[in-house]
Amino acid sequence: MQIGIVGAGMVGSAAGYAIALKGTASKITFVDYNADLARAQAEDIAHAVPFASSTVVTAGDYKDLKGAGVVILAAGVGQKPGESRLELLARNAEVFRQIIDKVLDAAPDAILLVATNPVDIMTQIATRLSGLPPQRVIGSGTILDTARFRHLIGEHLGVSARSIHAYVLGEHGDSEVLGWSSARAGTLSIKEFGAQMRVPLTAGVKARIDDGVRNAAYTIINGKGATWYGIGAGLERLLRAITRDEQTVLSVSIVTPKVEGVNDVALSIPRIVGAQGVVADLFPELDDGEHEALGASARLLKQTLDALDY
Ligand code: ADP
Repeated sequence: MQIGIVGAGMVGSAAGYAIALKGTASKITFVDYNADLARAQAEDIAHAVPFASSTVVTAGDYKDLKGAGVVILAAGVGQKPGESRLELLARNAEVFRQIIDKVLDAAPDAILLVATNPVDIMTQIATRLSGLPPQRVIGSGTILDTARFRHLIGEHLGVSARSIHAYVLGEHGDSEVLGWSSARAGTLSIKEFGAQMRVPLTAGVKARIDDGVRNAAYTIINGKGATWYGIGAGLERLLRAITRDEQTVLSVSIVTPKVEGVNDVALSIPRIVGAQGVVADLFPELDDGEHEALGASARLLKQTLDALDY
């Protein structure tokens, strides 16, 4: 499948690099309003391809997205000094206003994968601007938070993260909800698994994992200014579920008709992803505290969206 990546900055290029190395797409076309950057990223990544796959990597204009089955939206602007989160959001909404029509003119059948932060709000904006059904406008959401959650649980229990089924729900951000009560290792609850393996999941362990999931990005930002490899690999994983029609369960963000009493809000819950995009939503079993936290996350996102006049 041919794909496009609009926004050839750190996140867009890291996604392109992961996709090219794994050969997940037959062709990647980078588009950026900084055409020199798009060309440079495409060339640099193309030079890695002979060691790994046969993906063609190029840069171009929107019209070159013709035939793309998926377009990753990673374009955005950085925060100016003194700028509020909402003002930044308004400028990123404007970026999407400039981009989305042009993407759909060239590739009307594309599924849009949204990576620009704040990803849930940007997914909601992209859905509205594109007029596409929500199932075809998918934000990377908590895909990375979920991977980290599983990694930390697996590390504590002494079992591969691949044997952990656990999800981070809600906003990709401070209000996200770690789904402890439904987390399983193999077929056991993680509590039972911890007891049998003599590595109990104490309140202290849970607090440490919670902190590790919630604050991972801040630690990375302190050290290197931004994050890109993790989300780049997450976008490759999401794309692979589409290109291979996997029907895989991933925690991704789409506009959801009703979450904890909040209507039409984009946030993450586990969903089945295949060639048509999201084919089903899976509402996890939650305890009372998690229900409440997910509701608060949904309300917070909705309030931000309502405050944004776009
Ligand atoms: P991130 O770390 O999120 O990837 P970057 O600033 O590195 O952030 O990348 C964002 C990219 O989006 C930049 O390369 C920038 O040129 C691009 N961009 C910003 N606005 C537009 C736009 N209107 N059209 C196309 N690309 C854009």
